[in-house]
Amino acid sequence: MKYDFIVVGAGSSGAIIASRLSENPSISVLLLEGGPDYPDFRKLPDDIKFGYSTGTYIAVGPEHDWGYIAKVNDYESDGLSRYIRTPRGKITGGTSSINGQIFLRGLSHDFELWKNLGLADWSYEEVLPFFRKLETDLDFSGDFHGEDGPIIAHRFPKSEWSRSQKGFFESAINLGYRETLDMNYPDASGVGPFPCNNPNGIRISTAVAHLSQARYRLNLTVSPNSTVNKIILDKQKVSSLEVESGGDTYLVHGENVVLCAGAIANPKILMLSGIGPTAHLEKMGIPTQVDLPGIGQNLSDHPINFVKASVKDIDDLDTQKPCLQVGLRYTASESDIEDDMLMWMNSYSLSTDYREVETISTQGNLDNQDVDGIQIAVSVYFATSKGRIQLNSIDPKDSPDLFLNLLDTDKDVERMAEGIRIAKDLMESKPMRPLIQNITSPTNYILNSRESFHNWLRTNTVTGHHLTGTCRMGSDTDDMSVVDSNGKVKGLSNLYIADASIMPESVRANTNATTMMIGEKISAHLETNH
Ligand SMILES: Cc1cc2nc3c(=O)[nH]c(=O)nc-3n(C[C@H](O)[C@H](O)[C@H](O)COP(=O)(O)OP(=O)(O)OC[C@H]3O[C@@H](n4cnc5c(N)ncnc54)[C@H](O)[C@@H]3O)c2cc1C
Repeated sequence: MKYDFIVVGAGSSGAIIASRLSENPSISVLLLEGGPDYPDFRKLPDDIKFGYSTGTYIAVGPEHDWGYIAKVNDYESDGLSRYIRTPRGKITGGTSSINGQIFLRGLSHDFELWKNLGLADWSYEEVLPFFRKLETDLDFSGDFHGEDGPIIAHRFPKSEWSRSQKGFFESAINLGYRETLDMNYPDASGVGPFPCNNPNGIRISTAVAHLSQARYRLNLTVSPNSTVNKIILDKQKVSSLEVESGGDTYLVHGENVVLCAGAIANPKILMLSGIGPTAHLEKMGIPTQVDLPGIGQNLSDHPINFVKASVKDIDDLDTQKPCLQVGLRYTASESDIEDDMLMWMNSYSLSTDYREVETISTQGNLDNQDVDGIQIAVSVYFATSKGRIQLNSIDPKDSPDLFLNLLDTDKDVERMAEGIRIAKDLMESKPMRPLIQNITSPTNYILNSRESFHNWLRTNTVTGHHLTGTCRMGSDTDDMSVVDSNGKVKGLSNLYIADASIMPESVRANTNATTMMIGEKISAHLETNH
């Protein structure tokens, strides 16, 4: 059988694309997903189903994570390079099934920037209808919000904030930041409740939201545990995909293919298929089919570091309650990039970080014994340092070589340093005093000299999990771009990419909502123009 569309990856974007395309009964769609599928909501594992306490704290088990490990940067700690876990969801819903459920849209200035990069179709006015189509916002309506989309967005009311969230909010107001009630407003800045996609503690992934409404259509085939190894080309067209499932390898055929395997897997699949930077492909012994030097480059992230504090009464901290509720968006002093920083309170912090490779991952319900206090996370939301992804080998089973390159530029280090100092001020300010005992990290010893502080930042910062940009969208004159403004891969007539990997520049927001919007927007284009 030859499908009209094969969608590779049922993640934040892919599950949306397959669901939207199959709304048209004349379009046949095959959705290939490398991980398992749970069609029956009652059988969805608890760590996937429930959001609050599992949030971003708990490394998911290997059956739902691709298990990638990334090199952080070129700075060494105790003479060793740092490698950290870089989770990606391996399940229908993809990373939206394992993530932290902050449902924050990109800002209007993000899309203004995309427009100025030659992508007129991606101005704020152009993307807004798709953000609206995506959601039902339980708190706000009107021009900027959706009222009948599959993803349910809400904010925790002040009455439900934990003590540390209230303290963080009041401290920020005392330091002069303005209150913002709706952080999904086009140019929202200041301190306020995060929009979250976890009403009543249920993580609303794209599998729960979009796919559950589409999966029984006769024109949609969902094929879980089916990993795409590579794309087979016939001149300038995709002729088939090589798929591995249950130990068997076979070919599937489609008129059009939409890659939605995410910012790590897309470049891997493309490079294994001979589509990518010629010099690297030659080094790997892969004949080049299409030379696209931008594939695997421009890897963007939102680097994170923390101010940690012990609390007067550890029993006050309840790991079964929501841990992410309030955020602060601001512009770093002397920064020429508006709203380039985000920080937020974690209502409890753990003695270990699951990102560290040597840390044993906890799973399921958190044990209060692991809790050592609270922390403010500080993140550069417009990082100028870029990493890259290359192949490690030509075996599709091998993970690619991930280099995040966090805090490579002085500009990123300076802004992170200022953010940590602001977070420390917030932690020490009056509204927090009844709660906290001591700041435990970074210590005064680290903060004493600029050199030791910057060194600590470069050797302790971790991924913010917001990987984007490795197959970036761009105009004809952008030699490093991989897809055009409709997601079509340059030089090929029937291959598209539509997920976090095509963001030309990351957004100043967590990346899930914008990735979902990309899914909504590109599927609408494909449906009318295929
Ligand atoms: C721990 C964590 C916490 C996060 N928290 C938040 C948050 O709170 N808010 C937010 O906005 N963002 C958050 N993010 C980021 C956000 O979830 C991602 O940016 C977004 O989900 C990326 O969507 P995607 O469609 O590009 O990729 P994915 O959602 O990862 O989808 C890719 C899909 O492709 C499948 N796949 C991969 N390779 C193959 C293959 N070869 N063959 C077939 N299928 C394949 C995968 O299994 C997956 O289902 C978080 C990320 C992580 C890891």
